[in-house]
Amino acid sequence: MAKRTAFRTCPLCEATCGLELHMDDDELTLVRGDRDDVFSRGYLCPKGTALKQLEADPDRLRAPMVRTGDSWREVGWDEAFAEIERGLGPIIEASRDAVGVYLGNPNAHNLGAMVMGKVLLQALGSANVFSASTVDQMPKQVSAGLMFGGALTVPVPDLDRCDYLLILGANPFASNGSLMTVPDVPGRLRAIRARGGRFVVVDPRRSKTAEEADEHLFIRPGTDAHFLFGLVHTIIREGLVRLGAAEGHVDGLEAVSRLAEHYAPEVVAPTCGIDAETIRRVARDLATTERAAVYGRIGTCTQEFGTLASWLVDVVNTLAGNLDREGGAMFTLPATGGANTGATKAGTPAGVGRGVRFGRRHSRVRDLPEFFGEFPVAALAEEIEAPGDGQIRALITVAGNPVLSTPDSGALDRALGSLDFMVSVDIYRNETTRHANVILPVPGVLSRSHYDVALYSLAVRNVANYSPPVIGLKPHELPEWEVLLRLAGIVAGQGSTAEAAAVLDDFVLTSQVQKAVAREGSNVEGRDAGELFEMLSTGGRRGPERVLDLMLRTGPYGDGFGADPEGLSLDVLEANPHGVDLGPLQPRLPDVLRTPSGKIELAPEAIVEDVETRLTPSLARHANGELVLVGRRDLRSNNSWMHNLEVLVKGKPRCTLQVHPDDAARLGLVEGADARVRSRVGALEIPVEITDGIMPGVVSIPHGWGHDAAGAEMEVAGRYAGVNTNLLTDGSQLDPLSGNAVLNGIPVTVEALVPAGA
Ligand code: SF4
Repeated sequence: MAKRTAFRTCPLCEATCGLELHMDDDELTLVRGDRDDVFSRGYLCPKGTALKQLEADPDRLRAPMVRTGDSWREVGWDEAFAEIERGLGPIIEASRDAVGVYLGNPNAHNLGAMVMGKVLLQALGSANVFSASTVDQMPKQVSAGLMFGGALTVPVPDLDRCDYLLILGANPFASNGSLMTVPDVPGRLRAIRARGGRFVVVDPRRSKTAEEADEHLFIRPGTDAHFLFGLVHTIIREGLVRLGAAEGHVDGLEAVSRLAEHYAPEVVAPTCGIDAETIRRVARDLATTERAAVYGRIGTCTQEFGTLASWLVDVVNTLAGNLDREGGAMFTLPATGGANTGATKAGTPAGVGRGVRFGRRHSRVRDLPEFFGEFPVAALAEEIEAPGDGQIRALITVAGNPVLSTPDSGALDRALGSLDFMVSVDIYRNETTRHANVILPVPGVLSRSHYDVALYSLAVRNVANYSPPVIGLKPHELPEWEVLLRLAGIVAGQGSTAEAAAVLDDFVLTSQVQKAVAREGSNVEGRDAGELFEMLSTGGRRGPERVLDLMLRTGPYGDGFGADPEGLSLDVLEANPHGVDLGPLQPRLPDVLRTPSGKIELAPEAIVEDVETRLTPSLARHANGELVLVGRRDLRSNNSWMHNLEVLVKGKPRCTLQVHPDDAARLGLVEGADARVRSRVGALEIPVEITDGIMPGVVSIPHGWGHDAAGAEMEVAGRYAGVNTNLLTDGSQLDPLSGNAVLNGIPVTVEALVPAGA
């Protein structure tokens, strides 16, 4: 066997670590961290090493599967696509909205899906698009859109130069960061302390990150916005406002001051559970430390005031003078250009754009507004089940496992079973895809190229790293981007042949080239679209590689098709297998803005209204003795499919109900014995784990478990099934500004199944 070493970026989470892969021919024998990677410098977590088991997993689908009743059979691609044409054709003919789409979280880590997924959506033309964004991050997209003008114009902590970091609702020692692309968060947080700085964690659980922090503050679930408003109140009242780099670029300061009057630390303390003097101290630390930032993540998004908490994170950063400054919260300048790069139409002043608009259409059953082109996924089950015009009768899922990951998932599971037709693009027959009529598998990680188009827009350092496929496609495999284009061909009525996909591929490049030619500053040196098309197609490149090359060459560091000999192109990235470091984050105001005013909108109208009508009245709510449920994350778990890798799930069971000792004693709960947990929508039974690492009055269950569904084909996950916490979460509870599911702060009751002492 021929031994060789290959390098590629890990696609399994947002951290984008570089991997060193030891290969014997096409077999992966060892995974190490790539010490020469310009961003991760050799770091990797246990999930990265599990790539070896993922590649070899016998349950991973390698050929298209067609279901008849409860039986599945492997088929060739032609038969699979013909079956899809037969199933979808009449439904599309009746109504395009009758075909829904669900896009799972792994799409964000996938070059082919990032570039070609939108072609499928455009070709289908259905209003019924859903994604994982409304279970984890839509509040941040909405608040960033309203404040800065773009869904991904999200400031990230300048982690490597920060001296004081306040972390809310995030556990980056387990998650490695999210909406903040950075490898080795543990090392980088410890480095803050090593240079004399501090990091403080606010969380209802003493997570691993909280254990490592200089200070951990327990907070009642769902009250981050109250706490953050307490910081805003203090900063304003104590005369600590200093806009710094944002000076002259901010609208709405007076409105924020008016709203904050209600949120004195003494007022919010009984609601959030953090005492007034601590709130004042944290506010002063943020405002007086030279380089400081606030970072809020999933716990701040998946709650009833998700958008307000996400907004307040950036309000605090702005008022404390930490926005767009070295060591504060800064904007990335990604190499692929696009909306986050300051590229404007000719003649438009810096920072002025169209802003964002929501609610251009509403869901049929609950009249919920769309956000960035999609409806809240919590509405998916009812849109399938409620009869009438526009009812979803077929569904296309591309990655994801919404039966485990979305609220009130028992209802979604039943709804999927009632569809007339379903097609899934996935690597497993899981709790969701078991309902499909056809499953289209995609090649393994090693057979795919990789570039993090989305995640490098949120990186704490400007970097670019392209990974070519490590091994070739097997004769029966199709690249994922081609699978998506063939599906697009079917829904567009052009057929599923390779030729039809090639036409769509050329169409995608042509439209991207035309946009680049029309964009100011794209540095195409007067070349026309046809010439650029030819230049990008030399060397046999097809699919997402051609589009990526275009993005790089016309992006802010690009070679402008030869105009800048030092500039980036795909050739340059191919010659640099450990990535290209484009330097630390730089100040970007006002160019990064895209609001109609060209200013940071500190008090958007929709947010002011939500504060006045929901948040301020909620100040009267204090702890009432009821138990509330929160989620949690584990280092060895991310998406539910990782539970099919023995190396990641073996050992001490991790799907447990964490309960504080006081609550356990009051309820007669016994360590290791099962308890029954009930919410308004469901009930489950789960082993108890008693720990003082959780607040009294709060219980916690990790997400992504519950692998006991008949018809799923994930043998390891079935042995470590756990329970599905989303049987308890309530699809009727949404953050109204973003449509995001409320997954934290769910009222529950807990009872012992085995009485203490029995
Ligand atoms: S931290 Fe994320 S990117 Fe890095 S090795 Fe682990 S799973 Fe992969």
